[in-house]
Amino acid sequence: MSRDIVTIIKSVNYSEADKVLTVFGRAKGKFTLFAKGIRKINSKNRGNMQTLSTSKVAFFEGKGMPLLTESELINTLDLENLNVENTKRILFMLNKFLQEGEAYPELFDSLQNALKKELTLEATNKVRLIFVKEMGFLNDFSNCSYCGKEDDIAYLDKNNFALLCENCYTKYGGKPLGGKPYESKVLTDALDYYIKRIVEEI
Ligand SMILES: [Zn+2]
Repeated sequence: MSRDIVTIIKSVNYSEADKVLTVFGRAKGKFTLFAKGIRKINSKNRGNMQTLSTSKVAFFEGKGMPLLTESELINTLDLENLNVENTKRILFMLNKFLQEGEAYPELFDSLQNALKKELTLEATNKVRLIFVKEMGFLNDFSNCSYCGKEDDIAYLDKNNFALLCENCYTKYGGKPLGGKPYESKVLTDALDYYIKRIVEEI
């Protein structure tokens, strides 16, 4: 029997009582789990397998898809109370970025932090930046990308997803990130656009 801690990132009904779950495991990365009989009223795993919930699971790896045998809920989110757009942003990134057969334990931990903060815009954008950076799509995000300056880099070049300083921003059409950069519309829109572009390329 194999074990892992997983967050559900996609759930598809299969036949009358079963589900095929796509999960992000801390140890195993992205994989699919067959949850047999989970939609039955008396299934003991039933409440643990909602999208974006996290559980300790045991599963049997045979010839086909790994088969869920046990689950113990660690954290669940009330999807109805979450910001719909942020939920979509996170699920889009997880489903499109993670490659099967690769483990990303640090990214898994970053995701858990964002989930604990119930996917506020700040938490959503922070974890998206971490993913983009860790997956190699962002070289540097602490200096002005044109002159290398480390101070006053409060502007963003939306098209190239690059930070700009006070001196360079007018030259390259940078937009101000404002006093709360992680919650700014400029950063949110630029990340939406940049992540979509990455997904088209991978
Ligand atoms: Zn500069």
